Amino acid sequence: MSSYSQSRPTPLLPLFIDLRGRTVLVVGGGGVARRKVGMLLEAGARVTVAATTAEPTLRKWIDSGRVRRLDGAFDATWLDDVWLVIAASRDQALNRSVADAAQARRIFVNAVDDAEASSFHVPARVRRGHLQVAVSTGGTAPVLAQRVRERLEAELDESLSGLTHLLARERARIRWRFPQTGRRRRFFQSLLDGDVPRLLRTRDHAGAQIAFDLAFNDGASAPRNGSVTLVGAGPGDPGLLTLKALRVLQDADVIVHDRLVGPDILDLARRDAERIDVGKRVGEDHDATQARIHALLLQHARAGRHVVRLQGGDPLVFGRGGEELEFLRAHAIPHEVIPGITAALACAAAAGVALTDRRHAHGVTLLAARGNAPIDYRGAAASDHTLAVYMGAGELPLLSQELVRHGRAASTPCVAVENGSLPNQRLLASTLAELATLAHEHSIRAPALVIIGEVAAHAVQAARCRSHAIDGAITRAA
Ligand code: SAH
Repeated sequence: MSSYSQSRPTPLLPLFIDLRGRTVLVVGGGGVARRKVGMLLEAGARVTVAATTAEPTLRKWIDSGRVRRLDGAFDATWLDDVWLVIAASRDQALNRSVADAAQARRIFVNAVDDAEASSFHVPARVRRGHLQVAVSTGGTAPVLAQRVRERLEAELDESLSGLTHLLARERARIRWRFPQTGRRRRFFQSLLDGDVPRLLRTRDHAGAQIAFDLAFNDGASAPRNGSVTLVGAGPGDPGLLTLKALRVLQDADVIVHDRLVGPDILDLARRDAERIDVGKRVGEDHDATQARIHALLLQHARAGRHVVRLQGGDPLVFGRGGEELEFLRAHAIPHEVIPGITAALACAAAAGVALTDRRHAHGVTLLAARGNAPIDYRGAAASDHTLAVYMGAGELPLLSQELVRHGRAASTPCVAVENGSLPNQRLLASTLAELATLAHEHSIRAPALVIIGEVAAHAVQAARCRSHAIDGAITRAA
């Protein structure tokens, strides 16, 4: 009877069944039965439920007439006119006898959690509009199927749903325009490689329709436009990338990245994407480097490539993201920004510090220790904001001295986070007065972020209880 067993691992055949208007019997009245009934109703099936008791949602469906109900002991005549059966009661023996009766009548049956008794399995599913991906291990490892489903869920962009709707809407027109299958396939391919998917990703539905019409009228010969996506890579831990960042990395032709973006993150990008390191190094002419970056973005986008401009943290926090955006606008290059977790947020999380803890701070100031303009130490010292200082590793003596000189208490708690979120992360807790000396003693190096303010007092405890977990963590009571 078994359709699949370890002794005869014949693969199951995946099928997508049209259940509209077809009767399906579900045996059981609990939560599992309710989920199966919900799924069947969505597929347009006529559902009959055999249950002595029904949980609330099922009962609602029964009372409103959406679902027919049978009561009493299972009877084989219940299978008359039925296309499919799901035995989902808590009573395993009942599920088995329902399965036996169904198989005797050559009706496909699924007995929940009983692969042996089932002649079909319900796969784990990922749905994006009309696109459905079904995952199954033939009942041998449901948890693995679930994992794979979760991975696909993360990987497949929600905008695919809009794409399937657009293609469904245009299907008749496309068939009429390209009657030969070969040309039709080439049209679809160029459509998928073109601008339509990208525009849908940025939720520009009107733009996507225009791009579709252009491609349609051009008969698939339209060259695709290049684009640039400014992407935040987060503080270094690949787990802190956004799903959108991951998706564009897997779609990129060219990746123009900073030095702060590590190999673990670049490894997630499409294998054959060209990688260009444009990291600025101390002592380099930054303006020349930036001009080169602009030229690279322009050159590759104009050649029709999808360029990902990948920067550490968030692309618009203390990077040159603002200038790059302006450049792209000025040259009318299609672009998009995908934010990332900036160092202040990642380092605060690593140190166990709430930057805007309402008992101590009215806000947080993101401060660059180095920059084009002189730093407003007076403002920074006087405010009741927590200071999150970027690019401060080499500037701590001047920074702490000036803050104290302008009135910030020498006893203000601080925590420096070096390589936040990375395996070699280190924390150094101190006071403003001691910050520079201790950082020097412990050779705190870039990239490091310093959090200054009462809220940092909590970092001492946090560092203490986590020092076992964090390799090389340094703690020092404030
Ligand atoms: N755009 C980035 C900041 C670029 S400026 C962002 O949003 O995070 C570079 C500075 O960021 C470094 O000097 C350091 O102060 C900080 N930084 C970046 N990554 C860091 C990390 N993993 N740990 C600590 N500081 C980091």
